[in-house]
Amino acid sequence: MKELPRIQDDLYEAVNGEWLETAVIPDDRPTTGGFATLDEEVTKLLIADLTKFSSKGNVPEIPAFKDAVSLYGKVLDVKRREEEGITPILSLLQRIQGLKTVEDLNTQLGELAALPIELPFRFYVATDMADATKHCFALIGPGLILPDVPYYAPEHPAGKALLGVYSQMATAALAFSPLSEEEKVLYVKDTLEFDALLSTSAKSQVEWADYVHNHNPMKAEEVAKQLAPLDFDGFLKALFGKEKPEIVVVYEPKAIEKLSSHLEGENFIKFVHWCYVKTLLRNSNLLSPTLRAIGGIYRRTLTGQAADPSIEKDAFNLASRTFSEPIGVYYGRTYFGEEAKKDVVAMVKEIIETYKRRVKVNPILSEETREKAILKLSTIEIKMGYPDFVHPIYEKMKVEQGDSLYATMEKLEKILFEDNLSKLHEEVDRQEWAMPGHMVNACYDPSKNDITFPAAILQKPFYSLSQPHEANLGGIGAVIGHEISHAFDNNGSHFDEKGNLASWWKEEDFARFKEKTDAMIALWDGIPFHGGKVNGTLVVSENIADCGGVAVTLEIMDHLPNADYQEYFRNWARVWCVKAKEEYIQLLLANDVHSPAKLRANMPPRYFPQWYEAFGVKETDAMYLPPEKRIVIW
Ligand SMILES: [Zn+2]
Repeated sequence: MKELPRIQDDLYEAVNGEWLETAVIPDDRPTTGGFATLDEEVTKLLIADLTKFSSKGNVPEIPAFKDAVSLYGKVLDVKRREEEGITPILSLLQRIQGLKTVEDLNTQLGELAALPIELPFRFYVATDMADATKHCFALIGPGLILPDVPYYAPEHPAGKALLGVYSQMATAALAFSPLSEEEKVLYVKDTLEFDALLSTSAKSQVEWADYVHNHNPMKAEEVAKQLAPLDFDGFLKALFGKEKPEIVVVYEPKAIEKLSSHLEGENFIKFVHWCYVKTLLRNSNLLSPTLRAIGGIYRRTLTGQAADPSIEKDAFNLASRTFSEPIGVYYGRTYFGEEAKKDVVAMVKEIIETYKRRVKVNPILSEETREKAILKLSTIEIKMGYPDFVHPIYEKMKVEQGDSLYATMEKLEKILFEDNLSKLHEEVDRQEWAMPGHMVNACYDPSKNDITFPAAILQKPFYSLSQPHEANLGGIGAVIGHEISHAFDNNGSHFDEKGNLASWWKEEDFARFKEKTDAMIALWDGIPFHGGKVNGTLVVSENIADCGGVAVTLEIMDHLPNADYQEYFRNWARVWCVKAKEEYIQLLLANDVHSPAKLRANMPPRYFPQWYEAFGVKETDAMYLPPEKRIVIW
């Protein structure tokens, strides 16, 4: 056993080092520890339950749960899937192959959009950022093969090799298609060429992280002009008839502006080949187990994951994604106690009240802005555990015995697709949950001004009725504070208490806030990690949230009698404990809006005097940060 560092030099390693040395990353995952370990446990538990229900029946009386169990069983019917091979998707592939001109595409676009196919643009009905009671039609460019735009630069260390792996995977999948040998080669080549074209106008992850800039409302007729000769107006008519939207919110303006040039002349056939290959790969997990294994090659290379999940996990993942709410409600009702729910809700309320007290004395805010911030805090809605009801849409989602797995998913996705479109002229349902009960995560939705804590995260090390209160504050407490802080991060700060994009700040207050967020970017930017560097701009919103989460829970600690600060910081470090494949570490470092877990554990404590007092941290210790560099925003 290697010697552990002193806690004053490396909190994360001192607390987690022993575990890190012996922990083994399961073959079918890129990480283990913290969130991943809990997720693994939840998955195993639910697999056991679904297996029991699919063999013995006696399915719980939860809407659509029976169909979730049927879908689970359908994935497990390996014999049938192997026999069917690529057949279930052949007619869709042939239809794609039949597209020879833009006119062909125009006449079918509305119909194709309801199918599990890759189109030259993506879209969905979303909450309107300008008026969060309403919906809008959101338009996005097509997805790229590589994880981010910088991967396409010739000097990028991994980009070219990853494209090589992708083309090997595509070639292996096409071997099952009825294409001729020359066509197979051409299709793969064209796929990469069309993808390279798309990469020249796609948004980077840093740009996506600036969420507010997704809001680019345009007249539908202007968008149609940009997209011509694609018949965007005809497409909207096909989807909505007379009710078609007059305004389209373009999330990715450059991608949409350049799209028609990407489809010009010979490029159109490249697009068709790209569509064929990407549609086959996107659905490969629903075809034969052999095709499913091929379809996972690229993702495994990207994340360093050694093997595909077992067929049971695959079945669970599909059932749990498709029937997320019925399964989440089942999980919550079966495994989550009322006592825990009451306790954590009380904790959230205390954290919100403490937050208000902190806002009242926050030196960057004037009285006017403080009042608005307090109003926003007072109106945050709390979604704890799991919803009381399953959304009625699930009742329509029937899994038929006779259908292939692919045909089943095509039908189910179509129902969800139509449900999404039907919301365009409806009011936003604020009671809808953003995450199901069995998800190990939590979130803040700036458009609803609500926070969601699924039942599955309310476990050790985050939370337990049997662990010290200090540990709960350093775990779930800091996560609660983190989610609340998203209401006031560089993105959330642009939304008011109703979830509308609105500037509720006094100008000079916002300028001071901006100074602080810039300082947060500068503090983090360039921190070396695993041979790479942190991109301070990419991770700023999450760093602001972490800082706020620790600040507010430490203030609660300050009011506890004989508070054990060491326990608080140890559990804060425990929840970030993770062991990951090197490839996955690099992937997250380049693309994730969260900083690496180890840095999340080690940086925020240094902003606060309680850290220095709890462990007697001195200037000579590695986890010392000079006072002028410490940042506290909320
Ligand atoms: Zn966050």
